Amino acid sequence: MNGPLRLRLPGSTRAQPHGQRGAPLTVLSPHFDDAVLSCSQVLFAHPGSTVITVFAGRPSDGRWGSWDKKCFRPGQDPISVLQKEDREALAALTALPVNLPFLDAEYGTAYLIEEITQVLASRLDALAPESVLVPLGILHVDHVATNKAAIALIRDRPHIRWIIYEELPYRFEYLEHREVRKRELSEEGFGLSELTLPYDPNKRVKLRAIRHYKSQVKALGRVRIERALYDEQYWKVSALGEAEVRSCDEASVVTERKAAGSSMHDRAAPEEVVSECSEA
Ligand SMILES: [Zn+2]
Repeated sequence: MNGPLRLRLPGSTRAQPHGQRGAPLTVLSPHFDDAVLSCSQVLFAHPGSTVITVFAGRPSDGRWGSWDKKCFRPGQDPISVLQKEDREALAALTALPVNLPFLDAEYGTAYLIEEITQVLASRLDALAPESVLVPLGILHVDHVATNKAAIALIRDRPHIRWIIYEELPYRFEYLEHREVRKRELSEEGFGLSELTLPYDPNKRVKLRAIRHYKSQVKALGRVRIERALYDEQYWKVSALGEAEVRSCDEASVVTERKAAGSSMHDRAAPEEVVSECSEA
């Protein structure tokens, strides 16, 4: 993007907490920018949180994927650039990065969910977080893999508060995938209930964090960045007990009704607060 970028910052549709700060969280981010695009307002309100980026590995042969070709110039090392941008973005939110060695799907390597689950388990057991935020797993194969790898840990780690976040901007772009994944979780025996975490209402903090990913903003585009500034959406996810699984039909209905409640935010047109932001 050349020259000043005018972005509309949507106003929040929710009550704004004043001075609320929560305990540190651990956020699972499929790619380098997903936690910041989807969870910045909550990350900033939980100082000292950790972001584990799952598909942060560097291909040993240095090959580039199609997304790299959109974002980087010849001679650049995409992973080094992304790591630096990610450190800076997370520092702006007072969060710390942890990078796992799995390769982004665009490099053509596939993994078993169990492989990812095993590595995640050892990292989470070492970090001993109270709360873990997991992407819903909308559309992208790496997002789905991150979700499934984490969901596999829930039943054995009931002491952790497990929270699903809906990926931005995907949650506004792939509504059917979003609802299908929620239904699948219900069928797998997990209940979702809507959750409001302490968050920072100042979306300019989020915008500044996003803009640290300088290599990505042009390919993401203004419209998708604007969509990332809509309200963040969180669900507490719980493994249903045997009795609840027996009445699975009823549980599904409850979950779907709760899930349908999120559409209020989906339909809401953003209040226009025009911000003048020059590209760094
Ligand atoms: Zn992603």
